[in-house]
Parts: sequence; structure tokens; C-alpha cells
Amino acid sequence: MLNDKLHSYIEELIPEREPLFIEMENYAKENKVPIMELVGIEALLQLLRIQDSKRILEIGTAIGYSALRMAEALPKASIVTIERDLERIQSAEEYMSRSKHGGQILLIKGDALEVEELVRKQAPYDAIFVDAAKGQYQKFFEMYSKYLSDDGIIITDNVLFKGLVTQSEIESKRIRNLVKKIDGFNQWLMNHPDYHTAILPVGDGIAISKKKR
Ligand code: SAH
Ligand code: MG
Repeated sequence: MLNDKLHSYIEELIPEREPLFIEMENYAKENKVPIMELVGIEALLQLLRIQDSKRILEIGTAIGYSALRMAEALPKASIVTIERDLERIQSAEEYMSRSKHGGQILLIKGDALEVEELVRKQAPYDAIFVDAAKGQYQKFFEMYSKYLSDDGIIITDNVLFKGLVTQSEIESKRIRNLVKKIDGFNQWLMNHPDYHTAILPVGDGIAISKKKR
């Protein structure tokens, strides 16, 4: 979201990750898995560190990159993460078994809109990270904000959708509809009576929501 030079500047300042994380970053690039990008995930991890989150719910595991990064950054935290794509579940399980942080993670296999019971069993959560199908963000938020602790935060990724939220002329109807949904979600979220929300233009845009007291 920042101009390219500044973005690269920040990215180059970020220290090298563990070899397994580098391997995952390369795998994601080669296989077009949309894991959080470096500057974005550093921002996410820092918020979680400040909060000292102990229980984290993630919607959208993909190959387990962000889950493992959160586990590494917060060694005392346990992470519940949901994924529905079988191939990605398989990769995630493999990476988790190879990582020394894998033991902190519980992977729920299924559609996030259908596994509420399993998620509820581990509730409440200090932080919820929403990073799955963009068209369903409001549904995820409504379903899972119930399980947020009183001091909890909800972080939603991709709310600026590569900058497309400001573009009116988009050829693909599918993308146009998705943009409309994200914009609708952003409007809804920013005006939510029970949450304060700030949108940060890092990575693909993250919204940080905190329950009002
Ligand atoms: N958080 C990951 C990236 C997630 S990519 C990281 O940064 O490392 C988004 C993932 O959400 C995809 O793998 C997709 O299969 C999954 N997903 C999308 N909609 C979902 C749903 N309704 N239930 C479960 N998983 C979903
Ligand atoms: Mg994302």
C-alpha cells in the first residue's frame, strides 16, 4: 500500500526468519498461496505481542505460515486455526509437524461457517484473525466475535484488496462484486456500535477492531 520504495525499504529491514519460514515463504510464492506478506505480518505479530494474547483464533490457515509465525512470536499462546482446502490442510499439517512451534496449534478442518461448535469449545479468544474468503467477512465477524474476550481484538486482513476498493472501473464482474462486498464490510465495521476500528494501510490493509467498554 505504501509506495514501492518505502515498502522495500521496510521489508529489507526485517530480520531473517527461521529456515522453515523461508521455505514456506518460497513455497507460497511458487504455488500462489496468499500468505500474509512480510510487513503486514510484522504489524500483526506486534499487535499480538502488545496484547500478550494467550488464545488466538485464526480463520484461514492456508499452509500454516501465519499460525506458526504467531506461535513463534507468542510462545505461551495457543492458536486455533480453521482451513477448508484439503491440499492446504495437508501442507499445513506437514509444516506444523516439522516446526518446533507446531504443538501450540490446533487445526480445525472444515468450512469456518460450519465449525462454530468446535471453535466455541476453546473460547474465549484474546485475538481473532480473519484471513479467509473476503466475501464472507461480515459473516465470520458476526459468528465469531461472540467468542472474543472482553479485552479482545479482531484483526481482519485484506480490507483494502490491493487498492481495488478505490477503483470504480473493474472489468471482471467477480472482482467487482468482491470489491463491493469488502467496501460494504468496511463501512459496516467502521460504524459498528460495539467496536472501535482502525484501518491500517500495511500489507493488503488490516482492520483492527476493539470491543467498546
Ligand atoms: N492466514 C494465512 C493465509 C490464509 S489464505 C497466512 O497468512 O499464512 C486464505 C485461506 O482461507 C485459504 O487457504 C482458503 O482456503 C481459506 N478459506 C477461505 N474461506 C474459508 C472458509 N469459509 N472456511 C475455511 N477456510 C477458508
Ligand atoms: Mg490475507
